[in-house]
Parts: sequence; structure tokens; C-alpha cells
Amino acid sequence: MKYSPTIGLEIHVELNTKTKMFCGCRNNSLETKPNTNVCPICLGHPGTLPVPNIEAVKSVLKLGLALGSDISEKSKFDRKSYFYPDLPKGYQISQYDEPLVKNGELLGVRVRRIHLEEDVGRLLHEIPAENGNRPKETDKATYVDFNRAGVPLMELVTEPDIESGEQAVAFGKMLQLILRYLRISAADMEKGQMRVEANVSVRPEKQREYGTKVEVKNLNSFRSVGDAVNFEIKRQTEVLESGGKVAQETRGWDKNKKETFSQRSKEEAKDYRYFPEPDIPAIDFRETSLVDFEELRRSIPELPLQKRSRLMSEYGLRPIQADLMIEDRESTDFFEATLSEALGDKNIQAPERQRFIDLVFNYLTSDLKGFMNAKGIAFSDLKIDPENFADFIDLIFDGDISSRIAKDLLPEMQRSGLDPKQIIKEKGMEQVLDEEIIKSAVQKVIKDNPSAVSDYKAGKKTAFQFLIGKAMAELQGKGHPGKISELLEKEL
Ligand code: ADP
Ligand code: MG
Ligand code: ZN
Repeated sequence: MKYSPTIGLEIHVELNTKTKMFCGCRNNSLETKPNTNVCPICLGHPGTLPVPNIEAVKSVLKLGLALGSDISEKSKFDRKSYFYPDLPKGYQISQYDEPLVKNGELLGVRVRRIHLEEDVGRLLHEIPAENGNRPKETDKATYVDFNRAGVPLMELVTEPDIESGEQAVAFGKMLQLILRYLRISAADMEKGQMRVEANVSVRPEKQREYGTKVEVKNLNSFRSVGDAVNFEIKRQTEVLESGGKVAQETRGWDKNKKETFSQRSKEEAKDYRYFPEPDIPAIDFRETSLVDFEELRRSIPELPLQKRSRLMSEYGLRPIQADLMIEDRESTDFFEATLSEALGDKNIQAPERQRFIDLVFNYLTSDLKGFMNAKGIAFSDLKIDPENFADFIDLIFDGDISSRIAKDLLPEMQRSGLDPKQIIKEKGMEQVLDEEIIKSAVQKVIKDNPSAVSDYKAGKKTAFQFLIGKAMAELQGKGHPGKISELLEKEL
């Protein structure tokens, strides 16, 4: 019998608003000194009143618009009651039956809802060392750090439309990219700013109803998401194949053993006793002027998938090239600025135009980015502007400099901030085209390497490449490769 897997995702995202969800504390999830970003409201003192952060509401609405969702006309907050030491109020303010956003779609997966809630504190099983010292007597206790309590947390729930670990990862990565384009979260999984839970079930191919689902938690990288989902599919399939039943439970992911393990059987009864948060009035977007939807729509930039198809149609990029570009908005901006500089005043036609664009793409993604990564240079520190980079590509395009010289030129452009043509003149880096100079270098190489010459005459092709290399070295890498080859052949 064949089995079909079904996966639905629940994704939590910390929003990067200036302040927390219901109080004026700074929202700084990177703060390391415990309990410094706290106040009576986020500590849950009785009698304090929460006031919703409108920026957090707008962030969720923006994502909703970006995913083609329905924005609810009315929305409210609810209390979700449970007991845990990281939740001093005994309830979390969340949204139950009237989330801000419903429906929507991304990469063919339906989005069920997006709602807003507050994050909880963090348990520390060791007290953080201060100035390298850890108080000894407190080593064996558990501590609570409330810096994260009350941080705005968005939750997106998908319908069970996903069928593999790879598809779950693709969904998560595209959502992450959109969150970054919208600038509403850094959505770094390693930092816990984006947390993915995967619901996985398997059913016989011919059965219509979904199988029993297992919820997998603590997935803090995309690799874990993909591996854990695929592991669960395999495990559940084996259970069914051997005539067993899949238990409904929550499982954790052990990334060293690469397997899931049972955490608690059967989701504890959903007795959260949700009820409307009495301290926060329901929001009616038809009546409030708090959100200007026109302005919100205008604030949404071109999104990754739109950018991807535009880069392909406008610049003839191949899908893998476009994928690489959309992952890095700054590179794409630089790429487009370079081409608008270059193609604006250069009237080149089809095949040559594509050759130029590919040169810009290749030199940007490998040489320039490679150089920047090696030196730790960000685009904001880059002294090579798109105009100079366009001139640089122009030199390569016209065959005025070799790829060897191009490599030396980039650091020089960054150091001086000058136009590459000027640097080449000043530094004498021009391509050696002069026949006489090349000829004498070629003759010297033939004289100095008699055995390579006889190898060549005996029909060894590699000997020819060797001699070209020697001649190029003789010319300090500045010789025109085509000319060297031509003259070498003639002299030999
Ligand atoms: P619960 O009430 O247990 O939280 P929901 O119906 O609210 O379950 O769904 C929670 C998540 O689980 C959603 O992302 C949904 O797509 C997914 N899901 C629901 N049923 C299944 C199933 N049988 N197999 C896989 N995923 C499922
Ligand atoms: Mg759930
Ligand atoms: Zn606070």
C-alpha cells in the first residue's frame, strides 16, 4: 500500500516593533542582562492595564495584504489561560476566534489565519555569568528572565496543504524573505525570532480523511524542519505498514540523533478557557482611523516572487540566478542600479546586451560579493558605486582588461573610490596589446622552455597552455590572452 503525507505549519514570529505588545518597554530580544526590559504590565502585576501596540497590529495587517488575505473588519484579543512559570499572569493575551487576518496563500499553500499575541518569558536553568562569575550557591535552580515577556508575537497557521519536508522548508524560507522585505521581523530562526512547528500525518493513499497528526516542536533551523518532517513521514509510514496506530502526541526533535522523540502524549485537553480580554476593547477597522489602509498598501514594496519574475523577464535571468538575487535585496538593488547606469547610455542589442547583463551578474555575485565577504564589507561601506562598477564591467566587456587584472582592480576601486579607467591609467594596469612586447615575451618563453616546446611539437596540447601561462607571467598577467595565443602559435 502507498501512503500520502500531510503537513500543516504553525509559525511564530517576533515582530521588530520599538516597544513591546502591551506596554512601553523596549522590544529588544537581544538584551542579555535578565529582567532589565520589564515593567509592572509585562510582569503581569494585578491591576495594570494593557494597551495594544498599533505598530504590531499594522505589521500583521501588512503581511496579510502581502499574502492576499482577508483583513477582518472586526478583531479582538482573548485570554488563553494556562499555568507555567514563564507566564506570571496565568494567561497569555492572544486572539482566538477573531484573528486580525484570515485566509491567504503562499507558494500554493493556503494560509488559514494570522493573529497577534504576546511572547512569554524565558527559563534559565543556570544563572548567566556576570563579569565571568557565576554565583555558586545558585547553580542548581531555575530562573525566569522576563525580558522577552510581552514581545509582540505573530502566529501564522497554514492549512494542511504541504506534502514533504522540502516543501515545508520552501514555504518557511519564502515567508522569512517576505517578513524581511516588509521589514517587520529579522525572522532569524537561530535567534528564536522565527519558530516553526510542524503538524505531520500520513494516510493510505486511497483514504480521504487525514491521518492522526503529530506536532513536532523545537525546530530551530530550516534544516531541522526538513529533516524532522521527513523523519516523521517515514516513522509514521512504518507504524502503519506494520499494522500499528499513530499516537496523537507532541514530539521534540533531537538534531544530533536526527530523530523525533515523544514529549507528551495526546495534546493536553484544549482547556485554555479562552474568553475575550476585558481590558482591551475590540477593534472595528470600519470605525477606527488608527489604520490608514491606503497608506499601508503603499508601504508594501515589490515582494520576492514578483521581483523574481520581473528579473527574469526584464534582464533575461535564469530561474536559479533570479532565486539567488531575491534572497539578497541589497545585491539586487546594486545589480539594477549598475544596469541602469550601463544600459542607459550604451545602446546595445539582444545577444550583446545579454552578455553584458551576465557579466554584471557574474562579477557581482562572485567577485564583488566574494571580495566583500572576505573583507567584511557591507553594501553600506562599499566605496564602489554602481556607476564605477558599470565602468568596470564595461572594461571587461570590451576586452580592455583581463580577468586577472579585474581581480586586482576591485580592491583598488574600494580603497580609492576612483573610476576604474583612471586607476588603470595611473597604475599602468592596461592590457598589453602591443605586438612587439608580446612577441618578445613569447620568444623568451620559447627559448627558456625547450622541453615544453618539444612536447608541443610531439602533439601535447597541455604544453601549449603551459607556454601561454609562462608568457602571461612574463607580462605580469597583463597580456591580452588572444594575442599571446596567436603569436605563440606563429613563433612555434
Ligand atoms: P488543533 O485544533 O489540534 O490545533 P488545527 O485543526 O487547529 O488542530 O490545526 C493545527 C495545524 O495542524 C494546522 O496547521 C493544520 O493545517 C494542521 N493539521 C490539522 N490536521 C492535520 C492533519 N491531519 N495532518 C497534518 N496536519 C494537520
Ligand atoms: Mg494548534
Ligand atoms: Zn513592560
